[in-house]
Amino acid sequence: MQKIAIIGAGRVGEASAQFIAAGRLCREIALVDIHDGPPKGVALDLQQTGLVLDSDTHLSGSSDYASIAGAGLVIVTAGLPRKPGMSRSDVLESNVQILDSVVEQVMRYAPDSMLLIVSNPVDVLTYRAWKKTGWARNRIFGQAGILDSSRMAAFIASETGLSISDITTMVLGGHGDNMVPLPRYCTINGVPISHFIETKRLDEIIQRTRDGGAEILGLRQNSSAYDAPGVAVTAMVESIVLDRKRLLPCVALLDGEFSQSDIAIGVPCVLGRNGVERVVDLDLDDDERANFEHSVASLRTDMALL
Ligand code: NAD
Repeated sequence: MQKIAIIGAGRVGEASAQFIAAGRLCREIALVDIHDGPPKGVALDLQQTGLVLDSDTHLSGSSDYASIAGAGLVIVTAGLPRKPGMSRSDVLESNVQILDSVVEQVMRYAPDSMLLIVSNPVDVLTYRAWKKTGWARNRIFGQAGILDSSRMAAFIASETGLSISDITTMVLGGHGDNMVPLPRYCTINGVPISHFIETKRLDEIIQRTRDGGAEILGLRQNSSAYDAPGVAVTAMVESIVLDRKRLLPCVALLDGEFSQSDIAIGVPCVLGRNGVERVVDLDLDDDERANFEHSVASLRTDMALL
């Protein structure tokens, strides 16, 4: 892929641009924001990392959407982040309006692109973008589960003292208090996690994963997380641009998988050059299914506000 656009040159937009450029995943990154100066400043700053990072990616910043023309992938990070004490749903009203305006511009200037939604509430906004564009569902997806799974893996690595490289975690469902971590799919190099961590402690880790974003926001006060979100976005970008076909938890539009339709929610997806090339349906046990359906119900409540 030659060109990637990032809408929203705030913290997550900047971190994503930084990791994508450092990974040499495309030739050009166009940053767009509602303000003209900040995306230009971010682009210039990152451009000056090129020598040390050995990256030839060209970065530009603008408030003019014409600059995204030719992008194969548009990453949407524009929107209000939540403040301490707020849930992701609390920014729904303002961020839907922002998303609608962004999607209009993307349809005008990059009508053949794919859309990766990051702005919160990410599941609802991914659904909204799909409805607004009318595009095929493989072209519209969101980032949530890679970040949530990474958080869980980091806590497990700290708890066990074992290498994070060997840890596999899987977090599905909505990106919020009702996310669905799946301990049954959690292993350390194939050995079930129950071999290393007793149930009560694992439950505490699962709760800390659910609260992972709020914990960082509470500590930083003036910013939500952006480094781990930036690398999570980059993992999706890498699988798409290199056509790696990685199996990653992503927000995808369902059409019968997990017995759900007409909803976007976190599920395991195969990501390749065509975006979400496959949703991998899992045989959930009774508890997992109940948690997943609870997450679906909570998302449908938010979707009803659209
Ligand atoms: P931020 O405030 O640092 O950046 C947001 C940027 O969006 C700002 O630069 C702002 O000027 C811009 N913006 C606002 N309205 C716009 C518009 N109409 N057009 C273009 N740009 C516009 O916030 P952040 O920390 O980068 O977070 C951005 C979003 O990402 C938030 O909604 C946050 O909740 C979400 N987020 C999602 C995840 C995830 O895993 N999905 C993780 C972290 C943050």
